[in-house]
Amino acid sequence: MSLLSPDVIHRIRSAKNILFLTGAGISSESGIPTFRGEGGYWKTFKAEELATPEAFAKHPEVVWEWYDWRRGICREAKPNDGHLTIAKWQTSSPTVNLITQNVDGLHPRAGSRNLLEIHGNIFRARCTNCQAKYHLEEDGLDKPGLKYCTACESLLRPDIVWFGESYDNRLLTKAWEQSKIAHVVFVIGTSANVSVPANLALTAIRNGAIGIEINPETTTLTASIQLHFGGKAGEILPEIYKEVFPESISQ
Ligand code: NAD
Ligand code: ZN
Repeated sequence: MSLLSPDVIHRIRSAKNILFLTGAGISSESGIPTFRGEGGYWKTFKAEELATPEAFAKHPEVVWEWYDWRRGICREAKPNDGHLTIAKWQTSSPTVNLITQNVDGLHPRAGSRNLLEIHGNIFRARCTNCQAKYHLEEDGLDKPGLKYCTACESLLRPDIVWFGESYDNRLLTKAWEQSKIAHVVFVIGTSANVSVPANLALTAIRNGAIGIEINPETTTLTASIQLHFGGKAGEILPEIYKEVFPESISQ
């Protein structure tokens, strides 16, 4: 049975701008835990207690230990069919934008180049004093534990937007622009509990985009979305791609 009606297929095919918005759920099939699932706990801490500036100010060694552990999981994980389908879609059309809440680096590893990582990236760190940026693996800072700036010797912190922190303005401006011009917005694997990503999706929809959500659960966005697919991103997204581009099947 088809997932999409001929009308929706036509609207997607003729869309000048398509926007994908992804959250932790798209990476769960790659074995990376979401915060709201079982992996939301590490030792006795909840993610929300560790991913904050207050936790880092009090116990930087604990926060770094948690990030070192999570970075190891991300390094071992591989992009799944959800990430790969988006990357394929982006190569076939220059106007497919991707905004992710994920910090795991799986979208770039799947081949996505046109990408805004609005919550940062777990493989990067920055200096708490001079703001110098580092790539932990490429700059040889991958040893577990506290890490220091090679320029000014101050403590480094993960280059991540923590709970209660503001977004990078430059990235956010681009994200709003992309949401306003989208004709189709796919919202994949996000509980929409964080207000900025949810508002990016709603802005696209209010400006006329069709909203398509892929998530095994319903979310606060579901009521505002035209199509909700209650399943896994790695299964539903390749099916959608085949229906939109039937010519791709024989390739
Ligand atoms: P979230 O709020 O984005 O919720 C995860 C959502 O994914 C849930 O609604 C769940 O129903 C859905 N989901 C689970 N499996 C799915 C699948 N196979 N296909 C489609 N949807 C699926 O994420 P969160 O875990 O509550 O995280 C909150 C914040 O922490 C976000 O910024 C998030 O990006 C970040 N985070 C990132 C990663 C990562 O980089 N992989 C992992 C955990 C948390
Ligand atoms: Zn420094």
